[in-house]
Amino acid sequence: MSNKILAITMNPSVDISYPLDHLKIDTVNRVSSVTKTAGGKGLNVARVIHQLNEPVSTSGVLGGTIGDYISKQLNEVGLQEEFLHIPQESRNCIAILHDDGQQTEVLEAGPTLTAQQQTEFMQHFADLLNKVSLVTISGSLPQGFTTDLYAQMIEAAAKQNVKVILDSSGDSLLSGISGKNKPLLIKPNQEEIAQLVGRKLAGLSDLQTALLTEDIFTDLEWVVVSLGKDGALAKAGQEIYRVSIPKINAVNPVGSGDSTVAGLAVGINRKESIPDVLKTAMTTGMLNTMEKETGHIDPALFDEYFAKVSVEKL
Ligand code: ADP
Repeated sequence: MSNKILAITMNPSVDISYPLDHLKIDTVNRVSSVTKTAGGKGLNVARVIHQLNEPVSTSGVLGGTIGDYISKQLNEVGLQEEFLHIPQESRNCIAILHDDGQQTEVLEAGPTLTAQQQTEFMQHFADLLNKVSLVTISGSLPQGFTTDLYAQMIEAAAKQNVKVILDSSGDSLLSGISGKNKPLLIKPNQEEIAQLVGRKLAGLSDLQTALLTEDIFTDLEWVVVSLGKDGALAKAGQEIYRVSIPKINAVNPVGSGDSTVAGLAVGINRKESIPDVLKTAMTTGMLNTMEKETGHIDPALFDEYFAKVSVEKL
């Protein structure tokens, strides 16, 4: 059996960044240094897995000239692109960086897909499952696909004995963990875990109790709650682990959750011990936070930071 990971992004984008000294409203703004990168949570996951030298492929749905641009960028960094290509145009997401650290975003919803395209995607996905051992599913669903899509994908993966890591929020996360088959792992952040249990959790002991007693977590092998600079609290089987991380110089935390998912996927795919999976994931999360570029780590620093993470069984 292959040991490749498949990273899914259902609604990828070209992320355009416009740096401006000052954003002028209701008039023309001219911008000279533009960056355009293939974006989407699953693409961040794939890039970090690739940087750790673990075999990885990417899929989801893309199309049009924007889709071609995403495809070209993935090929340029040596990432295998196995998206379902559609006639509709993929989306642009624009971030205007202006006036001393302000960020104004304009996010397109992306194409509206048809029921027929959902069927086509599920067939395509079933074919891809033959070639992989683990799938990561990240982010939101495209318009037009049913909210149970992730539950359907998890069921298809279970049929082929492929493990699934689900990193989503809101209804698509809830639906993904409510199906007949469960994902192996979910990685909610503090906001997402509060959404899942329907209340704000006061502290670590409250969180620990929720992980052990709430029905929604009972059948999930792994629940890794990432806590930003405070590391993570994880349930693995029936055990709770507190993961502590060193203080680091945070440059850009965007994409840290995705990088954490990449570390979890690699650790599990390499059959690491539970503490080592958690250490790998915290290390990739931290290394992303230390870089300017989203969904990017410096692998040369991996061992140094891995050694600084501590895992304690509670
Ligand atoms: P998300 O990006 O999904 O909201 P988090 O903010 O919890 O996720 O970050 C994921 C992981 O990235 C953390 O568990 C931690 O390892 C690392 N991380 C994020 N922010 C920081 C920070 N300020 N300092 C150190 N590590 C961080």
